[in-house]
Amino acid sequence: MNRMILRVAVALGAVALAGCASATPVAVAPAVTMTSQAIPATGNTQSAAVTMPAAPAGSAALSCSNGSASASLTPQLTEGPFFKAGSPERASLIDANTPGTKLVITGTVYSADCKPVAHALLDFWQADASGNYDNSGYNLRGHQYTDASGRYQLTTIVPGLYTGRTEHIHVKVQAPNGQLITTQLFFPGVAQNDSDGIFNPALLMVVQQGSDGEQALYNFVVPAG
Ligand code: FE
Repeated sequence: MNRMILRVAVALGAVALAGCASATPVAVAPAVTMTSQAIPATGNTQSAAVTMPAAPAGSAALSCSNGSASASLTPQLTEGPFFKAGSPERASLIDANTPGTKLVITGTVYSADCKPVAHALLDFWQADASGNYDNSGYNLRGHQYTDASGRYQLTTIVPGLYTGRTEHIHVKVQAPNGQLITTQLFFPGVAQNDSDGIFNPALLMVVQQGSDGEQALYNFVVPAG
């Protein structure tokens, strides 16, 4: 079963459970609603609210947005060999000709006491749909800052696999004057997650198949400045 089928199966299962009112109660986390936001994303406009599938209870992707007064810091992971300083400032890493499955990631950057962090830096880099990094230019690399509500939105593609790794997106996150966090985001339902020694389930995004690609959610928790 490939990743896409698994992902759709998970979403369908969540819908089936949520709609089965007469069955034995099952612990299903509430759906999360993502709304449009102020950060401009080149070539992408989210005009309608997107309802995310139910996430696993305690999912770190939902940190602080679940009503908690505090949360654990986002785990740090190795930077890997392909980081390149000086990425352009942009919320979209793709254009109409970029091969791959479109992916829009949204979320909020919080401090450990669940206060949204405005103007936090997020610097993303990733492999292309074929699993290759652009080490000569800045394809699929870019940084942005959270808005006044701590929100960010990244428009990109689902990265391809490369030897030894599962699907992942690298990111550095930093509150103004705070400690820089280097980590990676992962996708649920990818078979290679189980064999990747770097994979951390606390860094799994909540992902849903949309009409125009995939929609994902992840909230970061970083040291305050
Ligand atoms: Fe990588």
